[in-house]
Amino acid sequence: MNELSLFWFRQDLRLSDNPGLLEATLKGAVVLIYIHDTNPTLHSKGSASQWWLHHSLDALQKQCKGKLNIYSGESQNIIEDIVKRLNISNVYWNRCYEPDRIQQDKTIKHFLKEKGVHVKSFNASLLWEPMDVLKSDGTPYKVFTPFYRKGCLQTKPPRPPIESPSNLNALLDELSIDLSDLNLLPTIPWDKEMIQTWKPGEAFAIQRFHDFLDDGLNDYKEGRNFPIKKNVSKLSPHLHFGEISPHQIWHKLEELKNQNSHNTYDIDHFQSEIGWREFSYYLLFHFPTLPFENFQKKFDAFEWQHNQEFLEAWQKGLTGYPIVDAGMRELWRTGYMHNRVRMIVGSFLVKNLLIDWRKGADWFWDCLVDADLASNSASWQWVAGSGADAAPYFRIFNPITQGEKFDPDGSYTRHYVPELKNLPQKYLFAPWTAPASILQQSGISLGINYPKPIVDISASRTLALDAFASLKNNA
Ligand SMILES: Cc1cc2nc3c(=O)[nH]c(=O)nc-3n(C[C@H](O)[C@H](O)[C@H](O)COP(=O)(O)OP(=O)(O)OC[C@H]3O[C@@H](n4cnc5c(N)ncnc54)[C@H](O)[C@@H]3O)c2cc1C
Repeated sequence: MNELSLFWFRQDLRLSDNPGLLEATLKGAVVLIYIHDTNPTLHSKGSASQWWLHHSLDALQKQCKGKLNIYSGESQNIIEDIVKRLNISNVYWNRCYEPDRIQQDKTIKHFLKEKGVHVKSFNASLLWEPMDVLKSDGTPYKVFTPFYRKGCLQTKPPRPPIESPSNLNALLDELSIDLSDLNLLPTIPWDKEMIQTWKPGEAFAIQRFHDFLDDGLNDYKEGRNFPIKKNVSKLSPHLHFGEISPHQIWHKLEELKNQNSHNTYDIDHFQSEIGWREFSYYLLFHFPTLPFENFQKKFDAFEWQHNQEFLEAWQKGLTGYPIVDAGMRELWRTGYMHNRVRMIVGSFLVKNLLIDWRKGADWFWDCLVDADLASNSASWQWVAGSGADAAPYFRIFNPITQGEKFDPDGSYTRHYVPELKNLPQKYLFAPWTAPASILQQSGISLGINYPKPIVDISASRTLALDAFASLKNNA
């Protein structure tokens, strides 16, 4: 009698380079499932990520010719029920690395094994799994460069990607629900610009990667700092949802290196950014309190300001600092923000407004289509200075000079802050310095149609330096 296998999709919403899926299909007929987990102990998705998830599942459903079974509930109960009802012999999934997922997977694996079901998990989303990379004394790395250079690059190269299953004999379960029953889409239509900006799903992830190789990879190392340039890949949501794997990206880049078609330093730099993603997962795996607790304990003594008015001005892009406001509005409108601008707005929140990095991480979590527990937590702690290998406390981004340097013709800022579109470049990043006549000619009335700066940049900088320095002295 043929055995029936179950494959559980999670953050691997693709058919190609999917080791768990391939293994399941090699055994014969397979039941493909996705569970929208309602377990309150799991970190639930933010609104923008739910939007992405809907469209990504829709694309996957089409790839599976309607045979992707969808459920809502607690994963353990649902898997237990399917295994019993459909007499499943083998259960496969690809590993997730968020602490609550790891805990849940252990429980489910134990339970299934007790029932005599064959269970196997695979690595589909990291080039180097965190448990395999340790220092010679057996402890985890805490600094990126030795982690990446010694712990990763000097060890086993990432495995090559594998093919899609050639024969997908998938069965439909009568208890599967409709994707629309998950209610992932917004009830009020705030997603207009998201629809124009993104195309979730495996085919588009691969398309975006190839477009980036054609138009963005050359000059990546320099160009990635300028939000208006085409030198970033925008692959982060596709990678988060597993519509493309880091193995597919890595090996294609290695191929390009061998062909000498691009500058090696651009390729190396792009690979090292993928390395930062690996490092974020690594930190989350070895230090599971990363999303909630300061990595450096001395930051526990820091007295964050509880200023709701400032927090809301930051969230809405109404701080009076044009580059900060442009970034926050890009986030709100598209679910994405360029990395350079993420660092600027993060530094502004934590260092000029002295607001706890966790408030920033929560807002990003809700608004980003690429919201990722590992990268978001590690990056916010990096910006705050409280993280592993973080920016030093005295590194405070100046939103005026950052704007001038990285948006030199102002087109990014003018696009997202159209109130300022007629302001001469000289004043764009500090409108309050413009003479009254120029403001008037540009149609700007500060405090009326564009805010006055909510804090003084140099006074707030001095305040932050003193506050962070006292922390250092107390350490
Ligand atoms: C405050 C803050 C919060 C962030 N939150 C997230 C998040 O929730 N999810 C997320 O994926 N990234 C996050 N990042 C990291 C980074 O900003 C994004 O990964 C990057 O901007 C995505 O754009 P891209 O795909 O065009 O990047 P590219 O420059 O094209 O880079 C390629 C890939 O490398 C990875 N990568 C690049 N930079 C980083 C980085 N610094 N840390 C980790 N991985 C990186 C991403 O997977 C990215 O898709 C955050 C950064 C900051 C400063």
